Amino acid sequence: MNLLHKLFGALKRFYYLKILRRKYYRSGKCNCCGCCCEKIYVKHGKNIIYDEELFNKLKTMHSFYDDLEVIDKDETGLVFRCNNLDPITRKCKIHRRRAKICRNYPQEEIFMMGAQLSDDCGYKFTPIVPFSEVFEKVLKSKSKDSGCRFFIE
Ligand code: SF4
Ligand code: SF4
Repeated sequence: MNLLHKLFGALKRFYYLKILRRKYYRSGKCNCCGCCCEKIYVKHGKNIIYDEELFNKLKTMHSFYDDLEVIDKDETGLVFRCNNLDPITRKCKIHRRRAKICRNYPQEEIFMMGAQLSDDCGYKFTPIVPFSEVFEKVLKSKSKDSGCRFFIE
């Protein structure tokens, strides 16, 4: 049983790392806190949208943007709130026909963009390769380098 469990773990890890090219396992589930629908950054191309003129152009390209309202602007970019979020129930008013981007949330790509999950989010991301394993590999490769030393306190 233990061997089977290990084999399944190794296969799962291989599938995520090599086939899906993921770096994190996602676990948990949505608890409908609504946090991800009221502080939203919008990425277009490689950049987060910073000016309203560009955003108004995007509105003509996808109906999802029509439902977003600018509520702030910070050092990252414009901050939006989705008008489909019911302020009382904290639930999505168009849940059954919400956009694909909402159905897939949260993806690990949000980390690449420098975003984070809200503290109330029911999802959790765990690195597939634990940090200790990465650190050990780096130590091993460095110990092979001549003239290179590592000091660990
Ligand atoms: S459409 Fe619904 S799920 Fe998507 S951001 Fe708006 S409120 Fe949230
Ligand atoms: S922040 Fe997380 S738990 Fe809250 S609504 Fe969004 S996906 Fe669901």
